[in-house]
Amino acid sequence: MTLEGKKFGKMTVIQHVGCKLNRKREKLWLIRCDCGREEIYPNNWIPYCESHAKSHSAKYACIPCMKGPCTVCGGPITDPNKTNICSPECKKIDSNNRSLAIYHKKKAEDPNFSQKRAQQRLDYLERNPDAKRKHKEYMRKRSAQQRLDPEYRAKQKQNWLDWYDRNKDHVKAYYKAWHEENRERVNEYLREYKRQMPEEQRKRYYERDRAKLLQKLRDDPDYYKKVLAGQRASKQKSAQEKDIAELLSMFQVIEEKLNE
Ligand SMILES: [Zn+2]
Ligand SMILES: [Zn+2]
Repeated sequence: MTLEGKKFGKMTVIQHVGCKLNRKREKLWLIRCDCGREEIYPNNWIPYCESHAKSHSAKYACIPCMKGPCTVCGGPITDPNKTNICSPECKKIDSNNRSLAIYHKKKAEDPNFSQKRAQQRLDYLERNPDAKRKHKEYMRKRSAQQRLDPEYRAKQKQNWLDWYDRNKDHVKAYYKAWHEENRERVNEYLREYKRQMPEEQRKRYYERDRAKLLQKLRDDPDYYKKVLAGQRASKQKSAQEKDIAELLSMFQVIEEKLNE
């Protein structure tokens, strides 16, 4: 039976190119699709007779034409094992979209569902100390890995900055209100903290702050000028005060002498 030159749907059989290296020794055919692609198909995929044309393994075009574009990016699918998504990247996007859709659906049903689920998880961990220990270990390991990954850190930072940009006014108002409410408590806590700080630590902090300040002075000439002007003003002020004090003391001496 020769299939060379026959046309099935969009594909044309060009020639017989060899056999599969299995027990059946199935024939392999070079086919050309109307879109211009050439591929090698096994005999089984070619609708060589009327009964086989009805079977699900019969094909009438090349794989990219048959499957249509990728549902995510719209590009062609060239891998015969893939169904309707072209690459791992597109698959990731697709699964993200799916989970987001599920999240929004659940959120529409119950606005507090994520908090409830988190509470359920916490309750479960409280009931099972073994699971809690395992969970803690896992989280510690994962966070250590993430801390060492610069790409992850950059991504987290960018996410946080984006979130802050969106909620800046709200956050600032919240912290302002909180500080006004707890000002005395905070001050007391800081005073106590400083009092209890070991000498070495205090020294280290002082040195760190000093290094920061010097760096800023080196980097920002405007700041440097400002600080210099402030220092000069304070020196002038103290000199004036000193002069006044001297004058006053002289007047005192003169008054005492006059009184004698
Ligand atoms: Zn094609
Ligand atoms: Zn794609």
